[in-house]
Amino acid sequence: MTKKIVTLSGDGIGPEIMEAGLEVLSALTECLNETYDIEAHDFGGIAIDHFNTPLPESTLDAAKNADAVLLAAIGHPKYNGAKVRPEQGLLQLRKALGLYANVRPLKIYEELKNFAPIKNVSEVDFVVIRELTGGIYFGAHELEETKARDINDYSAEEIKRIMIFAFETARKRSRKHVTSVDKQNVLATSKLWRKIADEVAQDYPDVTLEHQLVDSCAMLLITNPQKFDVIVTENLFGDILTDEASSLAGTLGVMPSSSHGESGLALYEPIHGSAPDIAGQGIANPVGMILSVAMMLRESFNESAAAQKIEDAVEKTFRDGYRTKDLGGTTTTQALTKAIIARL
Ligand code: ATP
Ligand code: MG
Repeated sequence: MTKKIVTLSGDGIGPEIMEAGLEVLSALTECLNETYDIEAHDFGGIAIDHFNTPLPESTLDAAKNADAVLLAAIGHPKYNGAKVRPEQGLLQLRKALGLYANVRPLKIYEELKNFAPIKNVSEVDFVVIRELTGGIYFGAHELEETKARDINDYSAEEIKRIMIFAFETARKRSRKHVTSVDKQNVLATSKLWRKIADEVAQDYPDVTLEHQLVDSCAMLLITNPQKFDVIVTENLFGDILTDEASSLAGTLGVMPSSSHGESGLALYEPIHGSAPDIAGQGIANPVGMILSVAMMLRESFNESAAAQKIEDAVEKTFRDGYRTKDLGGTTTTQALTKAIIARL
């Protein structure tokens, strides 16, 4: 049966890296169990230019009817301060698709260790799961002249579903360890968070659960990143910790992500932005996008072998010395993509 992938290339380097990701997918055609229909749609700044909105109805309808959504990057400085901004489209899309779990794996390639800002990054291999639809982002915000207030809301149901997601993720990994991150010595939402984590843990005797306060976790990510396997945390803490964690990799350019919801439909995208400063030059690092394709094959289409092929090829390509500009080299986006394809 043919599966439908909706692609949203977006802005800046988006189209260049999407092309790279799709080339890798197409090079794998022979080893995939299904055939894939690719349907491209406008999203972000390009959609504002064409439709006056970052998320046109036609794009949303297509995404809702897809088997997976592949997003490259959106945003451009020309929309700064504008009434309609590309980033609003992403919040609308996540909400409309009910994507509540954002997954960011962090693996540091042996060959790229020297680019990490700290020395001890050998064998760092963890995944951060950030709750995406609750918390302070979606509570009431009140700003007065001399005081302000933001409401942090979480329901037991919202916490439970992200916890189950985290424990299911841990169960599929070799170490089967969950670190639940909160601030339960201060916040009521964190007390509930911790209680639900303990309850859900009862159903996963094969997985170990550890609690960490967010401040302590922030420190441990730098002093002992090897200790983590699966980190699960609420929206705001996740925003901060995922940026901190991604800095360990040395470049934003190699990091993929996925976002999941109840419907089973998921969205895959590199974690970096549209990098307008290097757009159109053919020098963007396509690896974050290419590894997002690998995540899509594994998580949405059960094509683990093909995903592994991509990941191994990326590793070999780094081992053979290929480096884009963000890693101090001169390899172009296209040349790196070809090198990866040659090693599939
Ligand atoms: P956003 O707000 O959309 O997350 P940002 O402000 O975090 O964007 P990015 O667009 O991610 O910024 O870019 C940050 C820096 O990293 C820029 O200098 C950019 O050129 C560089 N960069 C980001 N992605 C890549 C990539 N794939 N290859 C090379 N350099 C990149
Ligand atoms: Mg950013």
